[in-house]
Amino acid sequence: MAAAPDTNRLVASLLRDLAAAQTSEQRRWGYKRAAAAILDLPEPLERYVESDGSLRKIPNIGPSSTRVILEVLRTGRSATVDAALAESPTRTRADVDRRRAWRSNFLSGAQVAAALRDPTLRGPRPSAYRGDLQMHSTWSDGREPIVALADACLSRGYRYCAITDHSYGLPIAHGVSMEDLRRQHAEIDAANARYAGRFRVLKGIEANIRADGTLDMTEVERADLEIVVASPHSALRSAADQTARMISAVQQPGVHILGHPRGRMFSSRPGIQADWEAVFRAAADADVAIEIDGDPSRQDIDFELARVAVRAGCLIALDSDAHAPGELAYAEIALAHARLAGVPSSRVINTWSLDRLLAWSAARQAAIRSTGSAPSAPDGSDRQRDRASRRSRGARS
Ligand SMILES: [Zn+2]
Repeated sequence: MAAAPDTNRLVASLLRDLAAAQTSEQRRWGYKRAAAAILDLPEPLERYVESDGSLRKIPNIGPSSTRVILEVLRTGRSATVDAALAESPTRTRADVDRRRAWRSNFLSGAQVAAALRDPTLRGPRPSAYRGDLQMHSTWSDGREPIVALADACLSRGYRYCAITDHSYGLPIAHGVSMEDLRRQHAEIDAANARYAGRFRVLKGIEANIRADGTLDMTEVERADLEIVVASPHSALRSAADQTARMISAVQQPGVHILGHPRGRMFSSRPGIQADWEAVFRAAADADVAIEIDGDPSRQDIDFELARVAVRAGCLIALDSDAHAPGELAYAEIALAHARLAGVPSSRVINTWSLDRLLAWSAARQAAIRSTGSAPSAPDGSDRQRDRASRRSRGARS
């Protein structure tokens, strides 16, 4: 099922076009903020129109953005934006055209709410979601300490969460050193002792996928982590094919989740170009889950690509990528994509019980410890049998 036409996204996109046509940095910023506010609304814009035809007050929306909204509601397009672009230099118009291609399959908040409510969708129900497996604390670039995130997860009704601060290879995101990681683990142990079984914080990391498809931390270092999310943070604007890099990433020992696989960004970055079906097949073989990152400006992968991942036999992870407790709600955006894609609930690792998740996670760590650096066994091994059984499981569910 495709997502229904979405006035909110159309208006937000036009406001981004209008931002691009501004010469003043302040006006550009104002339209971008207005676009973000519209994308965030929980209801379709049609419901904000009063009986006299005026628009109900929306925070961060000024008079000129209001005019664009009313034009779109009346005519399906905006004469204001058309005129602004017509007066713009050719270079600006080309830039706008390029950015339009970087908005495909993004959902507005209103569409997310609709997808979560829609009883005809087959994907995972919000009530089945037991824990979020990508979030950042003050140990790297997050804004609040681990306990604030964990308490917020608990109050959202979760059973577990994984703290996945950036690894040391990504200094721009204040990647956490191995020494700090050991201190962080002591903090997590103390938090878990306090939760006394009511809730469990998992020791995770968001490792950086380097240009050659290897990770920025060693295999032995990864063996001590319960959730290793491997994500790309470079070459995200390259038009070159990066299939080999991404296949290599999912085949690195100890990886559990391929995080925000494309690295795209709403209206500003296309993300990685790759044969995703091939990447997903490799991920399914390696038993690596593909993430739907719920950050509203990422939405990576989206519902359309999620269907390809499901057909390839992949497990799916639905994560917020929160950098503050208030952003944990981004997991709902990931859930909405999974529902639109019809991802079977059993394939979503965030619906698993804590015991099942830990067993799945620990098997990978044990494999690192027992095989050292050898990623595959030479003969008719357990690993190959595992792969065969995973393929048949993939075909069933
Ligand atoms: Zn990341």
